[in-house]
Amino acid sequence: MNLLIRAAAFAAEKHRNQRRKDAHASPYINHPIALANVLSNEGDVNDQVVLIAALLHDTLEDTETTAAEIETQFGLEVAQIVQEVTDDKRLPKAERKRLQIEHAAHISPQAKLVKLADKIANLRDIANSPPADWSLERKREYFAWSKAVVDQLRGVHSKLEAIFDQAWSAQDQIK
Ligand code: NDP
Ligand code: ZN
Repeated sequence: MNLLIRAAAFAAEKHRNQRRKDAHASPYINHPIALANVLSNEGDVNDQVVLIAALLHDTLEDTETTAAEIETQFGLEVAQIVQEVTDDKRLPKAERKRLQIEHAAHISPQAKLVKLADKIANLRDIANSPPADWSLERKREYFAWSKAVVDQLRGVHSKLEAIFDQAWSAQDQIK
């Protein structure tokens, strides 16, 4: 059984009716695949559990998927990592943002890798295909917040952290 391919198919099915926020409303699945690609082909991460968690990382937060469903199909370790990178949607947005900064230092090393890849992918998207209605100020706020999160988890993977810093440095070019 190739669990990685199964995770890609699972995420594609769960996100099938969702789109990203860019002007072209890109298919949602492009984003989890981008995370797995950054981890594997730029960060040289070959831990299958991390790559599967990256493919599934937004399923709990943004679809009807349950942790039990992930555990049954992909195991407890994957389910725990996905839970670690999932915001509590019952909380107000500003509080969720604050908690990401507070929690980033205390999550598992595997969850830190997924979080790093998520921030890298989102900064690249904001630089290259941003949400259609975002002001420059809002993009800058997102860059600043992402760095505040990542600064709390440094020391886990120097190569991915350097890739994050590279993505972050595009801030000067955004309009
Ligand atoms: P959102 O959380 O609403 O949107 C950002 C998230 O959208 C990303 O983290 C990513 O999440 C997802 N996403 C989907 N498509 C894209 C894309 N093309 N590029 C980048 N990300 C994409 O917005 P904020 O992060 O701004 O959070 C809301 C906060 O913003 C509030 O706390 C509020 O204080 C503030 N705010 C600021 C405004 C301003 O003008 N300055 C206006 C309104 C709110 P994922 O990876 O999970 O899919
Ligand atoms: Zn994401």
